[in-house]
Amino acid sequence: MDEIELVKSTEIFKMCKNVVIGRGNVNSNILFVGEAPGRNEDEQGLPFVGAAGKNLDKLLANVGLTTNDIYIANILKCRPPENRNPTTEEIKKHTPWLLKQIREMKPKVICSLGNYATKFFLAKCDPDNMDKQPGITQVHGKVQTIQIDNLTINLIPLFHPAAIIYNRSLITEWEKDMELVKNEVTKHLS
Ligand code: URA
Repeated sequence: MDEIELVKSTEIFKMCKNVVIGRGNVNSNILFVGEAPGRNEDEQGLPFVGAAGKNLDKLLANVGLTTNDIYIANILKCRPPENRNPTTEEIKKHTPWLLKQIREMKPKVICSLGNYATKFFLAKCDPDNMDKQPGITQVHGKVQTIQIDNLTINLIPLFHPAAIIYNRSLITEWEKDMELVKNEVTKHLS
């Protein structure tokens, strides 16, 4: 089955209005990866356009970046009902598409937003090993080098912008981490 057929074979595909692929600058060297589309993203067919997205835009603007400097995608391409957590099965069937995007885009930097995206990359893209990975609180702001096929990529784990809306104390941490992102972005702006 190809990547699109795999996504279509999951139950959440039947419940969603749109498949959410990505937005931003596909020629950028920087890829942000979130968890899954929410209600607004499902309606509009674009990632990070709801409350979390507004927060992400603001947090990017604070370091002089816009979504034109980066590309944004998600682990899941369809919205899970009631925004429940992704299942391992869904991650297995949706991430081949994300990996295809990564192979085509060849980013130099991936910023993983929150636990799911971070654990996926730390687990060497093996959903069965995600449980064994450390959580975002332990690894945020720690740049790691990962290998995806022949691509060497700097992974920068970041708190999820939605978590920051509800936990203002994370803002200081996020701002520190974003300085790292800004440095990487300046190095790799194409
Ligand atoms: N949260 C995510 O992880 N992704 C989106 O696209 C929107 C909210």
